[in-house]
Amino acid sequence: MSATSEFELQLRGADLKVTRPRLSVLAAVNEHPHAVTKSIIGLVRDDCGEVSQQTVYDALEALTTAGLTRRIQPPGSVARYESRVGDNHHHVVCRSCGAIEDVDCAVGEAPCLTAAEDHGYVIDEAEVVYRGLCPSCSAA
Ligand SMILES: [Zn+2]
Ligand SMILES: [Zn+2]
Repeated sequence: MSATSEFELQLRGADLKVTRPRLSVLAAVNEHPHAVTKSIIGLVRDDCGEVSQQTVYDALEALTTAGLTRRIQPPGSVARYESRVGDNHHHVVCRSCGAIEDVDCAVGEAPCLTAAEDHGYVIDEAEVVYRGLCPSCSAA
């Protein structure tokens, strides 16, 4: 099955209308995990010509609401998108260059960390951001 038809199936499975920009956005996020909106716009334009920023924003919004993409925004970073959804993984962010990588749950499955005090809330998610220097920054 080609990548495009797989993305078509994902859109249909989420009850989303299959449009060229949505397919292109979904492909861009799959191929470039943790991409920022600006680079997604560039990738989509490379792929299907002139597309308005708003069209890309709308597609990202629809895909994220439908659970096909996940929006992450580490403190101090702009929003990024990824297609690895549903596993509550965490991220490590380079303090120097902003590079970002996936980190599996710290302990077992979501929420993976037990809050010392739940204040009566039913907690289903913990988001951990690890910070440090990436290999190329720590070598420099
Ligand atoms: Zn770095
Ligand atoms: Zn990730």
